Amino acid sequence: MKTEERGTAANPLTYEEWIAEGERLFGKDTKAWKTVCPVCKNVASAAEYIAAGAPHEQIGFSCIGRWTRDAWDLSNSRKKAHATTPASAYLS
Ligand SMILES: [Zn+2]
Repeated sequence: MKTEERGTAANPLTYEEWIAEGERLFGKDTKAWKTVCPVCKNVASAAEYIAAGAPHEQIGFSCIGRWTRDAWDLSNSRKKAHATTPASAYLS
């Protein structure tokens, strides 16, 4: 009998399994976990989002640049477009 791979769209992990895998890969301190913005490639930890004043639900979802001025150069049209488009982030 073939065991179906876990963590796929057809066989997703539970929230508890996802947290356990994150702790195995990145450690128990979830505030130290980092995400990479798929658009501007900025890397930020959850602690950095919190320090920037980002709402909890935006950590790792929207670019941290929405809450920091340093990550943005609004004269750059690509980043200007990024500033108005929801971004998702991936575990680094
Ligand atoms: Zn970004």
